Amino acid sequence: MAPPPNGMQELMEQVELFEKTANLSASINDVHNTIDLLTTARAKIAADPQTAPLTLAKLQDPLKKSLEAAQKDIKPIYSGLGKYGKALDKRFKDKPLPTAENDALSSHPQLINRAIAMHLLREGEFSVASTFIQEANRHPPHAEPTLNTPNPYLNESWEKDIAEGTFNSEKLQEQFAEMYHILHELRQEKNLGPAIEWARARSDILEARGSNLEFELCRLQFVCLFSGHGTDGEDQLMDGTLHGPLQAWTYARREFGSFQRRYAKEVQKLMGALAYHENVPESPYGNYFSNDTAWEEVATSFTREFCSLLGLSADSPLYIAATAGAIALPHLLKLQSIMEKTRTEWTTQNELPVEIPLPPSYHFHSIFVCPVSKEQSTDQNPPMMMPCGHVIADESLQRLSKGARFKCPYCPSESHPRDAKKVFL
Ligand SMILES: [Zn+2]
Repeated sequence: MAPPPNGMQELMEQVELFEKTANLSASINDVHNTIDLLTTARAKIAADPQTAPLTLAKLQDPLKKSLEAAQKDIKPIYSGLGKYGKALDKRFKDKPLPTAENDALSSHPQLINRAIAMHLLREGEFSVASTFIQEANRHPPHAEPTLNTPNPYLNESWEKDIAEGTFNSEKLQEQFAEMYHILHELRQEKNLGPAIEWARARSDILEARGSNLEFELCRLQFVCLFSGHGTDGEDQLMDGTLHGPLQAWTYARREFGSFQRRYAKEVQKLMGALAYHENVPESPYGNYFSNDTAWEEVATSFTREFCSLLGLSADSPLYIAATAGAIALPHLLKLQSIMEKTRTEWTTQNELPVEIPLPPSYHFHSIFVCPVSKEQSTDQNPPMMMPCGHVIADESLQRLSKGARFKCPYCPSESHPRDAKKVFL
């Protein structure tokens, strides 16, 4: 792991120290003791009111000690909190948050609420999600006008849903509950059954999407049977003596028929491994049988396909947006201070004036920058491909051609603008 950036080390040490020394269990115990003392005394007095003066007198000393212990045990919590607060202030002392001048979200509070609710649902935090939705419904957020949305109104049906309290999370919750059940079986129980059943029921849709999920799952099942881990219910019922490679062979004969067309080579390799069953790790097929990440890989594939079929991305959009935002923040702060110094203004409203170096997994849409105008293409100014294969933005095409035959700026070919084709990215 890369060392944490400057100053973060101290912060992490404080968190560690805090977790170790300042936990609340001692204080909670103290309070429980005090409550026990009081309830015992009350029961005694209730049973025999005559004993009240004596019981109360006897209670005084232990009760005082018990409260003192509670005071003493909570001290490290306060001091830990204080130290952590100081470390936080020290680390972030000259890091103000950007001003709200370019606020794009205040006009869409329902969008934020929905993103939070969806995030909780897809993380499997169903009860938290349902409390959140109830509370959001009881206090519908108020949309504030912003620069880009001066007249906020509820344009999308789901924005209305969450604002008017009709956002129905039950269906989604049911679906995610199924996803978590299958993931639990995969990761914790090493049981491929429910995932294979799910994939098989959607075989056609998955194949149409070019997904290999069903085969990946069945291949892992084959490998498990081959190595003697995991069971294949039917075979055991049929014949208790079948195990290892033989069980895998029976499984393949029964299940791999439908994979022959698409995965002939892969199936051949798995069958080839049977010939080396005495020493597979040393065989050319060894890598199939010693893949430590195989379970996590199928779990990830499954999550991706499951979410796609629900029309959702595999990763939580809220998580992605927050992470990308955290990466972008230092760049935006720097930009802001430069703009203040040079008294320049941020003129492009829908585009950031600086490039934010996001990791490749955060690149979702290919962009096209016209080589003539150096402008990024938009829906109004799409990339156009001329018959020679070169691509420029529509506005550049119109400007260069003036509606008549013209020479491509990048090669000798000539063409008419009406022969250029719109390129979809
Ligand atoms: Zn050309």
